[in-house]
Amino acid sequence: MNLYIRNNTFWFELENLTRLFFPNEKINVYREFQSVEKPFILASLDDEITVSVAIGDFEAEKTAPVCADNGENELSTVKLLYQLLHDFSGIDQPWGLLTGVRPIKLLRKLRAEIGTEASDRRFLEDYYVSPEKLRLADMTEENERRIIELSRPESFSLYVGIPFCPSRCSYCSFVMASVERAKKLMQPYTDLLCEEIRATGQIAADLGLRLETVYFGGGTPTTLSPEQLDQVLGAVNSSFDLSACREFTVEAGRPDTITAEKLFALKENRVGRISINPQSVSDEVLQAIGRKHTAQQFFDAFELARKCGFNNINTDLIAGLPKDTAEGFRRSLDAMLALDAECVTVHTLCMKRAATLTQDGKTLNREEAATAREMVRYAQETLTARDYIPYYLYRQTRMVGNLENVGWSKKGYESLYNVYVMDETHTILACGSGGVTKLRNPDSDFLSRVFNFKYPYEYIGRFDEILKRKSDIKRFYCDLHS
Ligand code: SF4
Repeated sequence: MNLYIRNNTFWFELENLTRLFFPNEKINVYREFQSVEKPFILASLDDEITVSVAIGDFEAEKTAPVCADNGENELSTVKLLYQLLHDFSGIDQPWGLLTGVRPIKLLRKLRAEIGTEASDRRFLEDYYVSPEKLRLADMTEENERRIIELSRPESFSLYVGIPFCPSRCSYCSFVMASVERAKKLMQPYTDLLCEEIRATGQIAADLGLRLETVYFGGGTPTTLSPEQLDQVLGAVNSSFDLSACREFTVEAGRPDTITAEKLFALKENRVGRISINPQSVSDEVLQAIGRKHTAQQFFDAFELARKCGFNNINTDLIAGLPKDTAEGFRRSLDAMLALDAECVTVHTLCMKRAATLTQDGKTLNREEAATAREMVRYAQETLTARDYIPYYLYRQTRMVGNLENVGWSKKGYESLYNVYVMDETHTILACGSGGVTKLRNPDSDFLSRVFNFKYPYEYIGRFDEILKRKSDIKRFYCDLHS
């Protein structure tokens, strides 16, 4: 698809919106051109705003008046394009023309600026968000806000990354190393990670920061041995003041990594919340996505965690997986409810470019989008009826059906860390490879980032540089107070 832009700077939004309707096509964006070539979209801002679309037999054009506010001109242009692409395809996008990762943050900002009624109207009438998604956004915003209000100016959360997994899931694009190939890196990585944790703990203490939540993610932290888990968790416990810490989560995502010894190591080190992720309870689906564990292994791991005393367990499901059906997804969701999981996070499959699925040529199609929408609708209706609340939500590009990921929980079991990360409420100090420290100015939206190396071998080989970069944290806070 050719996208021609004349006399305006709205290419980012226009390209993103075009991609919603043509997810499998390359979008060529031209800002300088002599002529236009079919199929094309042309968006120009001259005496008036004009958007033209010519695809096969479909040819149409819409116009709107130019106004003094360039933000309004951008919105008008994107609305015209949405209307034309909707007329062409007949597709109603559930989130309308919104393409950003954080629609709830946008809703909250609008509410602060223009009030609840006007912001709801803007979602429906200007952004073309469906009433169903607006209801979901409304509920999520309210629940998120209660959690955000717990944070103080000196609050921060700690993220610890363990970049190892038993095997690669076919939809995953994270930088991780399979245990088989990276076994010899695991102990040196663990040792250096503990050193970074200690250095970070010292910085947080020197700055008088208050630790609210701890989150171990990755990868799969429970690929570490019980001794290694004890070593890293012990480093957190001895390096940080946890007296104000409200939540300590470890992703035990892959059931095939969970043992009683590891769960015991977590319990001993104050971990209160874990995630055990089936994604689906169909063995056929699990096999199709390269998970290399069975549904029964998930049920066994869940039961073991309960026996070990874990009373706050999250389970992740994914709507739209290959080989799954609406009926299969219903079975998966019902199984989580039968287990009485405290949290159920319902993701929608995202076709990331670097994932094996995409590399193997899988594309997005209308039938799968319709099925994924049915699955997500079932989840929303069923979880709401069972008194689960949506407490955080985010979106990604190239999601099946252009849907969303939603964290649902029983009241009082919301994951605070997930909200803080998504809302960018306060500073996140990150340790481990792939970690990104985000330093937040509590008086503005300003965020400064400090990156760790992505790959474990780089992290190990260039560890001195990681420690040097940590001095940016102190510099940031000193500048704030100077
Ligand atoms: S368990 Fe998570 S991080 Fe590991 S390969 Fe699968 S999706 Fe990626």
